[in-house]
Amino acid sequence: MIISWYRQKVKDFGLPAATWALWRVAWGRAYVIACNALLPSRLECPCCGWRGRRLFDYVEMGYTVRSVSCPGCDSHARHRAFFLWLRNQYRIDQKSGTALVFAPERALAQIWESAPGLRICKIDIEQARGVDVIGDIMQLPFAGESASLVWCHHVLDQVQDDRRALAELRRVLKSATGDLIISVGESAEPQTREFGFSDKALSGNRRAYGADFAGRLRAAGFSVQVVNSGLTEADKRQYAVDEERFYVCRKT
Ligand SMILES: [Zn+2]
Repeated sequence: MIISWYRQKVKDFGLPAATWALWRVAWGRAYVIACNALLPSRLECPCCGWRGRRLFDYVEMGYTVRSVSCPGCDSHARHRAFFLWLRNQYRIDQKSGTALVFAPERALAQIWESAPGLRICKIDIEQARGVDVIGDIMQLPFAGESASLVWCHHVLDQVQDDRRALAELRRVLKSATGDLIISVGESAEPQTREFGFSDKALSGNRRAYGADFAGRLRAAGFSVQVVNSGLTEADKRQYAVDEERFYVCRKT
């Protein structure tokens, strides 16, 4: 995984910058591994059961965020919050029908397997491990009203025409009972800011969503329920999650 990450960075930023980032990753990981070997555990990852003192840092070109990703499954805070919400509140194990999972996250593989009644279809724009269908979210190869659940997190940020993508998600979702569970990276700005290009330094994002995101969902023909992780402060500390906001939507 680290090799494919490095190759992509070389492609996007050139050899010297990518090699410097790789060195920061390697040094940071060695430090975290030493901390976890020497100090008592205080964190737990619900996605894979890992326990330890400190998570791996998240290294991007130009900045580092400390103690972010699980050494066992690479989960970030939002994956851990999603996992707990899907298991404890949404009761994913009791759901049935077809679930379309966009850009499937390795950290959530186990929670999808825990839902025997759901037929999981994992979709991505390009070939990746575990993907069932290669497809463009703006033009999906699925019949209308075919999905009981659509899972789509931090995907629209990178899509060229997000309104067209939302129209496609609405088309494939079952009326009345189908849930679209969605989130994007949201800034504190009131309005979404379009970049006009794919910003490689921001994971290829084409826009920074603002507080108008829920309005965009409603304009696309969805009722919108704002959800947060529902965790206690003690749980948040134990699982290293912040307040994660996401949306459960149905067709109107
Ligand atoms: Zn984990």
